Amino acid sequence: MIILPGSQALGTTQIAKVAALLSFLFFLHEYAAGVSAFTPPAAAPSVMTPQSLSFPRDARSSMFLLGASSSINTDSAGEETTNSKPSRAERKARERAKKQNNRTSPAKSTSGNRKGRRPGGDGNNNNNNDRGKEYRLHSTAISKLTATSTAEDVVKAIKRAQNLHDVHDIKNIENFLLEECDETFAYGYRGSLLARLAVAAMHMNNDDLARKAIEVRRTVHRSSMLPLESAAIIRGLLRMHNVSDAIDVLDDELSLPLEGLQPDMPESQECIKHRALSIASIASRSFFEDHPYMGVKAMLWLATLGPIVRESGLTIEELSMPWTRIIQGAAQCESKRRDGTLKSKCPADDDGTKEDDDIELPCNLVFSVLDAMATFPSDNNDRTYEALSNALVRRTLFVTGAVALSGCPEADRGEAAFIGRSNVGKSSLVNMITNRKSLAYTSKRPGKTQQFNFFAVNDKPEREREIKYGDEIKGEKDPDSFNIVDLPGFGFAKVPQQQRQEWSDFFEDYVANRKNLKILFHLVDARHGPIDEDSRIMKQVGDTLPRNVKYVVVLTKADKNVKGPSTKNSGKVARGTLEIVRETMKANGVGNAPVLLTSAETKLGRDDLWRYLRLAAEAKVDVK
Ligand code: GDP
Repeated sequence: MIILPGSQALGTTQIAKVAALLSFLFFLHEYAAGVSAFTPPAAAPSVMTPQSLSFPRDARSSMFLLGASSSINTDSAGEETTNSKPSRAERKARERAKKQNNRTSPAKSTSGNRKGRRPGGDGNNNNNNDRGKEYRLHSTAISKLTATSTAEDVVKAIKRAQNLHDVHDIKNIENFLLEECDETFAYGYRGSLLARLAVAAMHMNNDDLARKAIEVRRTVHRSSMLPLESAAIIRGLLRMHNVSDAIDVLDDELSLPLEGLQPDMPESQECIKHRALSIASIASRSFFEDHPYMGVKAMLWLATLGPIVRESGLTIEELSMPWTRIIQGAAQCESKRRDGTLKSKCPADDDGTKEDDDIELPCNLVFSVLDAMATFPSDNNDRTYEALSNALVRRTLFVTGAVALSGCPEADRGEAAFIGRSNVGKSSLVNMITNRKSLAYTSKRPGKTQQFNFFAVNDKPEREREIKYGDEIKGEKDPDSFNIVDLPGFGFAKVPQQQRQEWSDFFEDYVANRKNLKILFHLVDARHGPIDEDSRIMKQVGDTLPRNVKYVVVLTKADKNVKGPSTKNSGKVARGTLEIVRETMKANGVGNAPVLLTSAETKLGRDDLWRYLRLAAEAKVDVK
């Protein structure tokens, strides 16, 4: 129970309602202003009752209005005690009477029950009288802010001033809040009003006004600051390209851990959520505004926050992380970086700090987003992964088919090879990760099914001329270019013994001696488990694959495993199958290799596959 000045007792439920209402009003305004990734507090809509929307500024009227919601008992002199809910008309009538009373009894309104008000003083456009100052506004609906104004009046006035870019009004509202009200105004939620005002001021590019409001909120209202407000302020600062102040607010107001609180407590969840969303805003702004170091730094922060997010139990829906937008920003920044048009070239250009010196940019900035995504709960969202694949695979080109190591293209970039018997789902899987409809289809054309097919990923467009016509291509290859190799498997296929042997010899040679091979994906059908040919491949890998090449067993068609196709992205594989796979791997000396569950149907495993493909993209290959 919180005792308000004026001997009024206000239950914690009501305080919570007031807080939620302010948050909701805050949200409404932000929403109206088109702020992205802004979500209302979960509890807010439930308190959208007519009586709570009339926001009193003093404790007496608040008791009157909030008392109407039935659960407040007050023994304060002159106020009735009630448990029955008056009708809306009755409440309105009381409210009008109360306001009228305040207007006609200045002596009363300037005395003890005018909470948070310092009477008198001078200021712009203000009249001194015994009711305190009047802060005149251009608005005709709320033409002035005075002793009787409510928090709702203030919010309305801020909204109008912001939408109409009314500098005069926004200044006077700030004067009213800073000069005329003290911290108890609106039950101590003056801080929320100041936050709302700061956001409006930033929308109007009024830096000074915003700074003052933010500062007072931080120093006077620290204990009642809401994460939602801090996040909105951060977005406002970013809109003004003020990244360093945004980071200050992030560190000061949304820092973790919260002392004495478990991550899954509502207070912690709010803070964690808004910290994550704020960092996401910093990242996407930075990428879109050509600051790759800051963007990557923000992604590193998110990567460390991910495990805490998981611990907090926040759902994907509650978080709604704007991954697609961050990926698009990183992709745009990356393309400028490649073509040399990036404005910010060195760490010091980013935000002037030396701290960025130790940040190494990945070969493609989008990989930093992938790293952060990996630590968060995965939403396996098609749009996100489409953006990811498009950013990581810009171009693909069939280079050549080889039947011997000598026929392979130059080993000048990392290589990822896929092997598996025919019909295991190899084409579908490769197409899924590269977001192409027909990349692997090429290798199915007659004549190409029994050779190692090489595809160049992210090569310069001119490379086609080189391959087709032997033209010499000048300049370096793109830093994230790599090869995908489609290795044929002969399981189930009617292939003469001699050809099988040739293929097997080539595979052995390739696995042991291909210098740029970085990752070998071995595809096994999740429904059937490994067949004899799979065991042979595992044996060869166990015997000959160099230690620096990653070997990963990929179980395909995981959606089909439990009695026919499953629409759910469950990735359930019969226990027995997994055990058999593990046993076969162990028996062939590759027992420690990772096993991934995938489905081209449900897109399960895209992120895991990309994390391994990255090894090929990032590889620095010594051509000599
Ligand atoms: P490949 O011969 O190894 O390249 O295999 P394909 O990719 O051509 O796939 C063989 C068949 O399996 C096709 O009919 C695909 O539609 C089907 N298939 C491939 N991947 C999946 C999957 O993840 N789930 C399901 N249900 N079917 C798949």
